[in-house]
Amino acid sequence: MKVTGVSTPTRPFKDNEDWLGSGPRMVVVLDGCGEPDAIAGETDRHCVHGLPWYVKTLGTALLRGGGDPATPLDDALATAIAETATAHGGRCDLSHPATPASTVVILRENQHYVEYLVLSDSTLALDDGSPEPIVVTDDRVARVTYPSPQDPAPGTPEAAEATRARMRHLNSMRNHADGFPIAAADPQAAYRAMTGHLGHDRVRRAILASDGATRLVDVFGQLNWTQFLDLADQAGPEEVIALTRAVEESDADCAKWPRGKVHDDATVAFCAF
Ligand SMILES: [Zn+2]
Repeated sequence: MKVTGVSTPTRPFKDNEDWLGSGPRMVVVLDGCGEPDAIAGETDRHCVHGLPWYVKTLGTALLRGGGDPATPLDDALATAIAETATAHGGRCDLSHPATPASTVVILRENQHYVEYLVLSDSTLALDDGSPEPIVVTDDRVARVTYPSPQDPAPGTPEAAEATRARMRHLNSMRNHADGFPIAAADPQAAYRAMTGHLGHDRVRRAILASDGATRLVDVFGQLNWTQFLDLADQAGPEEVIALTRAVEESDADCAKWPRGKVHDDATVAFCAF
C-alpha cells in the first residue's frame, strides 16, 4: 500500500496532540485526549511528560511491535501501552483519571489480508468497491451520559464549570466497565478495541483519521464518506485539512455547528492499494 498523510495542530507551531506514523505495510493514527477550548490548559494530568510525548511514545512503540505480522494487532497495542507506561519512568501518577490517553487506529497489510484495529473515536473508512465504504469507529465515548443536562450560556463561568464537570465525568469513565475503552496506562484496554480484516484483493482505498479531520463528514455535513475518500485521493490529505480549517473559520463562534473546540488537531492518512 502507498500511504500519504498529514497531521496538523490547531495552529502552526502549537504542540500537536495527534500523531501519524507509518512503517513497512503499517500505518498508525493516534489522537491524544485533550480538553475543550473553555478549559484549555487547565487539566492536571499528573504526568511530567504531556500528551504530545504520550502519543509519540505510544506510536513509535506500536510501529516497532506491530511490525511483526505474526503479532496480533491487539497484542501489539497492549505491549505498546505497557511499554509507554514504563517509559513514564515512575514519576507520574498513571492511576489518575486524567493520565495521558489516546484513541488508536491501525491498518496493516500482509499478503492475504488487510487488518485493522480501532480504539475510541478516531475513524477508519475502507473502500472495498461497494457503493458505501466500510466505516469503523467506536462511539462508546459519545454514548457516555452526563449527570447535569442543563447547559449554561456559552462563555459564562457557569459554562466553564459545566465543561470541567463533564471532563471529570468523562475521565472517570475511561476504561470503566460502563464507560469506554481508550489507550492510557492499562494494557487490557487493547482487548476491547474493534478489530477485523478484509481479503487483500477487496480493499481499494482506506483513510485513517482523527476526529479533528472527520468533522467535514460527521460535524459539518459537507461531505459523505465516499466524497471524503475521493477528496483525499484526488487532491491529497492536505486539502482535507485545508477544507476543514476553512469551514471552521466560517463558524468561528461555533454557533452553526456547536463543538467544544473551534479547531482541533487534525490527521489524515490515505492508503491506496
Ligand atoms: Zn508521564
